[in-house]
Amino acid sequence: MPADLRAAAGLLRSARYAVALTGAGVSTPSGIPDFRSPDSGLWNDVNPLVAASLIGFRIRPKEFYRWARPLARLIVEAEPNPAHFALAELEQRGILKALITQNIDLLHERAGSKVVYEVHGHIREATCVRCHRVYPSADFVDEFVYGDAFPRCPRCKGLLKPNAILFGESLPPEAINRAYQAARLCDLMLVVGSSLTVTPVSELPAVALSNGAQLIMINKEPTHYDHRGRVVIHEDAADLLPRLIDLLDEAA
Ligand code: NAD
Repeated sequence: MPADLRAAAGLLRSARYAVALTGAGVSTPSGIPDFRSPDSGLWNDVNPLVAASLIGFRIRPKEFYRWARPLARLIVEAEPNPAHFALAELEQRGILKALITQNIDLLHERAGSKVVYEVHGHIREATCVRCHRVYPSADFVDEFVYGDAFPRCPRCKGLLKPNAILFGESLPPEAINRAYQAARLCDLMLVVGSSLTVTPVSELPAVALSNGAQLIMINKEPTHYDHRGRVVIHEDAADLLPRLIDLLDEAA
């Protein structure tokens, strides 16, 4: 068992208020590609700042849906993986007080996490861009994912936009405010599977550090925060996090 994993377990054990900050890397073992790993496929033929942007959606909604359909299918068919379950377990044990996620895929909740701040929105609901009515995605997801129709408002026939945040769109104020509050309160932040390149979420570890918290970084690739991490491990989170739970058990 590597010493850095033992050190991470020790930090979690003694934390008064630990929070997790997760990104797309937590869900890659569930089959959902992240945005920046090489060959993830999501961005091979498109510019992310256009395809997944609010302006792109408004100008060329059909292109947006054509790009989003295969991703939506992967998300709909995905199951939580051991990394999601381990994070839920850390909350159940009273160690994690909150989980801030950039993911829109609902897998943390499905794994059992309760206090989840979805700072980039989610695909649970969609909003009509014309009349602003909100619908559960379950009402139209099969037709969208397995058919070739674009989701439309049953009332006014306007296009439905998933409540996942696109580039150029404001973040949900309540979730982002709670995330900042958690970053200010915590004495330990566990960052898992995020390149920490999307603002303002990329500021949250700095907020935590400036309030005296320690950082644990678990990521396949290095990030620009690694030099500030008390423990930095470059491994697959789905493999590593269950081993971290085992270590907590060993010490119990
Ligand atoms: P990112 O793609 O920028 O970075 C992912 C990071 O996770 C990379 O550093 C990579 O090395 C690491 N990683 C990949 N697989 C891993 C694994 N198995 N274990 C540990 N680390 C792993 O992702 P981001 O920082 O979350 O930012 C991307 C944006 O894309 C976010 O806004 C997010 O909302 C969105 N997004 C969400 C999903 C999702 O909901 N599952 C998927 C793709 C993108």
